[in-house]
Amino acid sequence: MGGVSRITQHEGDGTGPPWVGRWDLVLEVAGVGKSFGDVQAVKGISFQVPAGKILGLVGPNGAGKTTTMRMILNIIGPDRGRVLWQGRPVTLGVSRTFGYLPEERGLYPRMTVREELRFFAQLHGVADGRQLDREIERWIDRVALTEHASKRVDELSKGNAQKVQFLVSLLHRPPLLVLDEPFAGLDPVNVRILKDVVRELAAGGTTVVFSSHRMDHVEELCDLVCLIDRGELRLEGTVDEVRQSTGEHLLRLEVPGHEEQVFSLFPELQVTHRGTYWEARIPRDFPTRRVLEEALRLGEVRRFEVAPPSLEDIYVHTVGRVD
Ligand code: ATP
Repeated sequence: MGGVSRITQHEGDGTGPPWVGRWDLVLEVAGVGKSFGDVQAVKGISFQVPAGKILGLVGPNGAGKTTTMRMILNIIGPDRGRVLWQGRPVTLGVSRTFGYLPEERGLYPRMTVREELRFFAQLHGVADGRQLDREIERWIDRVALTEHASKRVDELSKGNAQKVQFLVSLLHRPPLLVLDEPFAGLDPVNVRILKDVVRELAAGGTTVVFSSHRMDHVEELCDLVCLIDRGELRLEGTVDEVRQSTGEHLLRLEVPGHEEQVFSLFPELQVTHRGTYWEARIPRDFPTRRVLEEALRLGEVRRFEVAPPSLEDIYVHTVGRVD
């Protein structure tokens, strides 16, 4: 594992990733780079997102995720490369239609939840009136904020304030929703609610880019994943492609008291003890049946599993560290 695994870059040359052609591309990030003084935050990154798909940007702290998102949103201009929306550069007018949940949340603390939502919706050009009121109530209910809706934002818990910020990013029905760590600090019930909303929006045609440190969230939610490390794109593709990209599988075995004995017959394998079971990295064509036969011969097999590595496994092996 390790190394760079990149799917061929696509810039309308017809040699793009396998999924190009199946879906319409709407967002194309083409070779963008950005430096802040001596710091090369983003070193020439390219990826594409089709309409209504969800892309997860993952990578360690300081990898360049926020900088990349801010370039997509036209908040900062790239030093090189370009960002295209529906084949054209992202103008200010276009970027105003996008929705953004920033890493540093920015709400007016003295407004009530309802006032906040109305204010930002209008700022994004949504006409005031009954229709907007209905939309606001629908969303407040959808994310379980009803009992807090008359409170001022500075009276809310951090998680509830984050849900308000989430609604602010989507009330105007943006065609592109960019979410910087949307689930950070939320309890599992709220994570589920927000994930469901993101899924529904994507199903309705909204294109979504979100960053996360949590590979399980990315694996569950994303169609596509980009792993960025130190400003460079290390892996890109559908979740399945990335999981298959290593050419390896993981074999998990639990035969209480006998795993070491079983694996001693396969000294070529790299084996790790993981609590109740043992895990071995195996080439995809490894004759796993031999392991199972030995395990059955020696004891009671409680677990025998062969699967591609999870995104988290890949993340740890690619980046070489966990945040
Ligand atoms: P995190 O997961 O910690 O949010 P990130 O992947 O979003 O990290 P960025 O915020 O894009 O990373 O930062 C990438 C690099 O660029 C870091 O080294 C950061 O210190 C630097 N950087 C980002 N914005 C600025 C800025 N405005 N001025 C100077 N350096 C910056």
